This record gives sequence, C-alpha cells and structure tokens, in this order.
Amino acid sequence: MSSAASVPSRPVPRPGVLAIEAYVPGKAHAGGAAKVYKLSANENPLGPSPKAVAAFHGADALEFYPDGSATKLREAIGKTYGLDPARLVCGTGSDELITLLALAFAGPGDEVLYSQYGFLVYRIATLAAGATPVIAPERDYHSDVDALLAAVTPATRVVFLANPNNPTGTYLPFDEIKRLQQGLPPNVLLALDAAYAEYVRRNDYEAGIELVATCQNVVMLRTFSKIHGLAALRVGWMYGPAEVIDAVNRVRGAFNVSAAGIAAATAAIEDAAHVEAAVAHNERWGSWLTTELIALGLKVTPSVANFLLVHFPLEPGKTSKEADAFLMERGLILRRVDSYGIPTALRLTIGTEEANHALVAALRDFMGGSHGT
Ligand code: PMP
Repeated sequence: MSSAASVPSRPVPRPGVLAIEAYVPGKAHAGGAAKVYKLSANENPLGPSPKAVAAFHGADALEFYPDGSATKLREAIGKTYGLDPARLVCGTGSDELITLLALAFAGPGDEVLYSQYGFLVYRIATLAAGATPVIAPERDYHSDVDALLAAVTPATRVVFLANPNNPTGTYLPFDEIKRLQQGLPPNVLLALDAAYAEYVRRNDYEAGIELVATCQNVVMLRTFSKIHGLAALRVGWMYGPAEVIDAVNRVRGAFNVSAAGIAAATAAIEDAAHVEAAVAHNERWGSWLTTELIALGLKVTPSVANFLLVHFPLEPGKTSKEADAFLMERGLILRRVDSYGIPTALRLTIGTEEANHALVAALRDFMGGSHGT
C-alpha cells in the first residue's frame, strides 16, 4: 500500500506533458496598420475554390453526426490520386494525424526521430505520447539522411520528415527518401509529411505515394489547409499500409472530420483548375520575391513551397527582430522562427500580388534606412 505522502494533492499530467511548449501560431493581427497582410501561416492567397465555399455553405442537417469514416472524401481523394480509399484516413488537419501516429506507435521508453528544423508539431506529438524526441542535425537547412540514419537506435519507433519542410522550404529528392527508407529497420514507421507537396515543381520529387505503395513502414500525410485554402476547416489525410490505417482508425475521434469539412474538401480536391491556379501563382511570385529579396541584400533559402525563409543581417538596425517590428507597423505579418532555433530569419508566405509588392517596398525601406537598435 502506498503511503499518503506519495499521493499528489492534485491531478498531475504524465511525464513529458509539461515539457511541451505549446505551439505558438503565426501572428494574425497587426495593431494600427490600415491594411493588414497576413503572411505568417502559409495560407493560400487565392483562398479556397469557390466550389468548396459553396459546398461548405450547402452543408445542412447540422443536427446529425457526420459520416465518421469520411467516405465521400476518401473516395474523392482516391479518385484524384488513384489510391484505394480503404488505405486512407482523414483527420482534423494533418496535425491530428501526426499526433495519432505518435500515440499509436510510440510511448514511454520509445524514441521519435525528426530533423533539426523539422515541423514543431513532431516534438509536441512525441512528448504528448510520452516518448522521447531525438533530433538529427541538418546541413544548410536541408534534412540530412545520413544524420537521420545515424540517430536511429533500437528504441526508434517513428521518423517524421516533412518534405518539403516547414519552416525551411527545402526538400529531399526521391532517391534520398528511398535511401532513408532502405536504411530504416522494418519496424520503424517513416511518416512523410507532404503538406506542401502540390507546390513542388521538381522532377526528382515524389510526395510519398510510390513509397507507401511498395513499403510496409511508410505513410504519407497531406492537408487541405495549404494549396486547397481550407485551413479554417481543419481537414488532413493520410495514405498508408492497411495495418497502420487500422491502428489510427482505432485511436482517432469517432467523428473527427466535420460534415462541412468533408463537403468542402471533397469539392476542393475535385477542382483541379483552382489547384493549378494556386501553383501558377506561387511559381510566379515565389521566384519574383526571391529575386527581389536577394537584390536587397537578404539571404533566401531556396524554397520549393509556398513560403520563404529569409535571413537577416546581424548588424544592429538590420536584424530579423527589428525587421519584424518594422513590417508589423506596416501591416505585414511575417513569422518569427526563434522557436525553431533560427532567430536570425523570418518566414514569409508568398502572398497576393499586392501583398508581395507591399512586402518588397517595406523591406527596401528597411534595408536602406537606419532604424536604431
Ligand atoms: N505539416 C507541416 C509541415 C505543416 O507546415 C503544417 C501546417 N503548418 C501541418 C503539417 C499541419 O497542417 P494542418 O493541421 O493544417 O493540416
């Protein structure tokens, strides 16, 4: 029998929970500025497909629970990508699926591996599952397959890899992803997080579909929050081996995707023209912004996604922190990436034409002027 002294006087979270620093989203407001451009959360400047908006408004019979299996949506995704809907599961954003993978496949004593600048939710999900985060160093803001493989131990259960990665915008070619998979023990789950896959225009890139189709230990995560412009509705999906899908189906909420989310996401994935327009916009303005920012003397990490990681000088008056304050005053909200260990950079979403011009004009003033310390 345990003594009364060893019983806490109040409920205490499991070890690991209080080690979590809650995710801090990109800022949404810039006080005072007449016009605000939110470039802090990699949202789609074109918004969602009008067909998705119509489907959202058409969702009625709100007294009924949604289809807990999101059948219509899984079928639409299956049709778009040529995948078996039985091997798909939808989630409340891909964030939820990341968390469920950690919960289902890792626990106390297990390790979850990801790279140095990997998406922050991997750490949160790992700690929430009671598992131990293990971080592999990157090389010049690129995930490093050798470093990841070197960090694998008998306790490794899951490897999360965002490809392209947020906040760096860099990617690994398919050969490297295959090399990673081949180097992993068969009991280690490789979770390829392809939240930004649609934006990538590189012949040597593969989001994960091919690898999932041929391996027992690979899943691919996708989202409707980025190219489909439906971040507010929280819909993500995963393609994986039947056994992994089965495990996630057991631990997920029974009705984790809302009826409005199912309806809007189904219409969104069927609107290929809208997706193409978003990709074309991103291509055009991504390269324009990169050229303009480099011309201003800033360093830009080459990005294949819908955002840029911009590195600021260390000299007083020109730092990322001062740039952030300067831009906020002009209503331009960028993303500080201190929490990723990159305090000298800001991340910006490729915005509307107007936002992109406003950003370059503001940064030109910032880089050209003197702003004290
Ligand atoms: N993975 C990556 C790499 C991301 O950047 C994000 C969004 N910031 C997500 C997953 C989660 O997206 P959501 O939960 O909106 O689907």
